[in-house]
Amino acid sequence: MGYNMNTSLLPNIGLAVPQCPKCKKPGLMVRNLTVKSLLIFKAKEKFEESAAHYLCMDSDCPISYYGISGDYHFKITDLKVPIWYKKNADPIFACYCNNITRDEVLEFVKQTGIHEMNKIIIRLRGKVKSACVAKNPTGRCCNEYFNELIDQGMKIRG
Ligand SMILES: [Zn+2]
Repeated sequence: MGYNMNTSLLPNIGLAVPQCPKCKKPGLMVRNLTVKSLLIFKAKEKFEESAAHYLCMDSDCPISYYGISGDYHFKITDLKVPIWYKKNADPIFACYCNNITRDEVLEFVKQTGIHEMNKIIIRLRGKVKSACVAKNPTGRCCNEYFNELIDQGMKIRG
């Protein structure tokens, strides 16, 4: 099953990702586990295990997850955590697994010049936790954004 599935049965062939029902931009496919872990209790009633889930990546769009059918979707307010790249996210998380915000990373890097993600997390939280599938809205590791923040912090430090 899975990869051997007959693709002619799928409404979207090949690499095409279904568009967000609101902003009409292609999203990012995410695992059901990620969606389920992050939905607030009230929104969970609507969750469909059989649906494929996509994350809207547009910063201005109020949609979080959506399915192939545009009627099936969740808003950013249906999630337990703000999505870091969405407009007005508060706080803006750099790392969901370790509960570290963007401002914490910037401030820490500016103060210390330490620019390795793991070292920063250990210094701030004592140890590194990793639970991206359940904690990060993308279901993926935050290292790309985290490293971007490290670069920004180093620039501020000069
Ligand atoms: Zn959208």
